[in-house]
Amino acid sequence: MTLVFRKPLPNVEHPEMPADVVIVGGGPAGMACALRLSQLIDDHNARHPEAPLSKENIYVLEKAREAGQHCLSGALLDPRSMKELLPGFESEAPLDAVVNKDAVYFLTRTGHYRLPITPPPLRDHGNYVISINRFVKWLAGKVEAAGITIFTGFAGSELLYEGDRVTGVRTDDKGVDKQNQAKSNFEPGYDIKAKVVVLAEGTRGSLTKQLIQKFDLMKDRNPQTYGVGVKELWEVPSGRIQAGEVIYTMGYPLTTKEYGGAWIYGSQNPGSKDNIVSLGFVTGLDYRDPRLDPQHVLQTFKQHPFIAKLLAGGKMIRYGAKALPYGGWWSLPPLAGDGWMIIGDSAGFLNSARLKGIHLAVKSGMLAAETAFEALLKSDSSAAALGKFQRSVETSWIKDELWPVRNFHQGFKSGMVAGVFNTALQEIFDGGLRNRVPSHPGHENLQPLANLPADGGAETHMLGPAKGDGKLTFDKLTDLYHSGTKHEEDQPAHLLIQDTNVCNDRCVKEFGSPCQNFCPANVYEMVDDETAPNGKRISLNPANCVHCKTCDIQDPYQIITWVPPEGGGGPNYDGM
Ligand SMILES: Cc1cc2nc3c(=O)[nH]c(=O)nc-3n(C[C@H](O)[C@H](O)[C@H](O)COP(=O)(O)OP(=O)(O)OC[C@H]3O[C@@H](n4cnc5c(N)ncnc54)[C@H](O)[C@@H]3O)c2cc1C
Ligand code: SF4
Repeated sequence: MTLVFRKPLPNVEHPEMPADVVIVGGGPAGMACALRLSQLIDDHNARHPEAPLSKENIYVLEKAREAGQHCLSGALLDPRSMKELLPGFESEAPLDAVVNKDAVYFLTRTGHYRLPITPPPLRDHGNYVISINRFVKWLAGKVEAAGITIFTGFAGSELLYEGDRVTGVRTDDKGVDKQNQAKSNFEPGYDIKAKVVVLAEGTRGSLTKQLIQKFDLMKDRNPQTYGVGVKELWEVPSGRIQAGEVIYTMGYPLTTKEYGGAWIYGSQNPGSKDNIVSLGFVTGLDYRDPRLDPQHVLQTFKQHPFIAKLLAGGKMIRYGAKALPYGGWWSLPPLAGDGWMIIGDSAGFLNSARLKGIHLAVKSGMLAAETAFEALLKSDSSAAALGKFQRSVETSWIKDELWPVRNFHQGFKSGMVAGVFNTALQEIFDGGLRNRVPSHPGHENLQPLANLPADGGAETHMLGPAKGDGKLTFDKLTDLYHSGTKHEEDQPAHLLIQDTNVCNDRCVKEFGSPCQNFCPANVYEMVDDETAPNGKRISLNPANCVHCKTCDIQDPYQIITWVPPEGGGGPNYDGM
């Protein structure tokens, strides 16, 4: 069966909709941007009733059916920016526990060793354990109560341009069948023509990627680098972990050649005596062995006696995965241009030394809102006017936080031991001995199978599909079932592969089709086909996709592009 990919239907009229500001993505960054903009407009209108600004034409586009459904995080919230956005937010926000205990362990295959002190970036006392899904839902309620419209189930599918100016966003066409033909319920996407477009799509945003490519925005920057976090939520018998207890681990199952680590956060559901454990493993997307499978890494991690004891008698209730940007300060693209700004993880505002980005997403959203507000007041959203956002970030605490760790991830490029040493140097010398340490895209580290031990060597326990015992460990499809993922089945594939001959002729031989391993949702399969040159042909199950973006990042030939499927489809990360 030939694969048909999603692409714009020809000769379709797209209804136009005028907007002042359109925010693409309703995660923490997008919601904070909308809320701050509303606050500024309210304040202005109270002071200048004679010249009010309207909020009617400010929109948030969110591809999930409900706000928060596609949001996945650890998550610990550093409350700094939320205190600025909504002073006193603690009394009403859904915060599961205050962190009161933290520890970092180094794991060997069977042993666990607590570090005598928790390294400063991982000290979390005073932060909150949250479900990002519930937190974003709550923020969405605030945004709507403030009079700003959130269009859920609508994806931004294309940026609109006039010359080099971004003039709006086209939303997804609905009702397109598997052969890329209009169905009887076909509805064309809207052309939302906006004075200001704010990109808040999270990691590896699809419109953000288009913009970065069109204007070559990463020239002179370090390329962005990523990790993928695979997460399970567990209910465990009470007493195993305290609500508010935080554990980080380094080491096993990774070897010294891979970058990554695990988190374990404890909380409690109201009215339940069981503890809730948020547990996940972040694997740096710069590993060498293309057979490595990040979902398998998590399953192996759970078999470690220290972790297995914590989970024994418990039940896995939710699953999900998502990529996160690791590159830090030197990997930020320019943040604004003619008609556009980029905020949150789409830009790369994440402190990888702390595994934290929510507070930076919120703060970047607030600063972008302040710039957008001035643009509306002055009717000027040129590159010069929106460039103020760049300057506000550079003079804000975002830079104070990201600057000292600007070389953090680069420090691990020669493995874990060198990384720990470099981290210590960076602590002493304010970011290290060099101002800017270069980096390269992580997928370039993937080695052809011919360069690797056929039996997997030291990495064997993380390679290929995990089998799962159905109690402590799970195969991918069982895990996937717990992500609540659903898509309209009759639609073209939203994973665009530039040339499937590369998959069938080259990749299968050279790298052993790593898409089958790095995808945490079994979307990619190499099926038997005697007519294919190597007896195998790529086949896709796009309806399984959890929108983690790993394939867009990690494929060795860079020929996969993730585009949004029909709005409303995707995972359902309720409670994650
Ligand atoms: C595994 C993992 C663990 C983490 N742990 C922590 C932690 O403990 N503490 C912490 O502070 N940070 C943590 N982070 C980072 C944190 O989650 C992010 O920094 C933060 O969520 C970024 O917010 P955002 O709004 O930029 O993006 P997101 O939270 O990704 O939100 C983006 C939103 O945009 C929507 N969207 C995307 N594209 C489109 C489109 N084209 N059209 C319409 N909608 C679109 C998505 O559906 C989503 O709702 C973690 C991240 C991961 C992946
Ligand atoms: S297809 Fe790509 S984006 Fe979807 S789950 Fe697999 S790796 Fe993630």
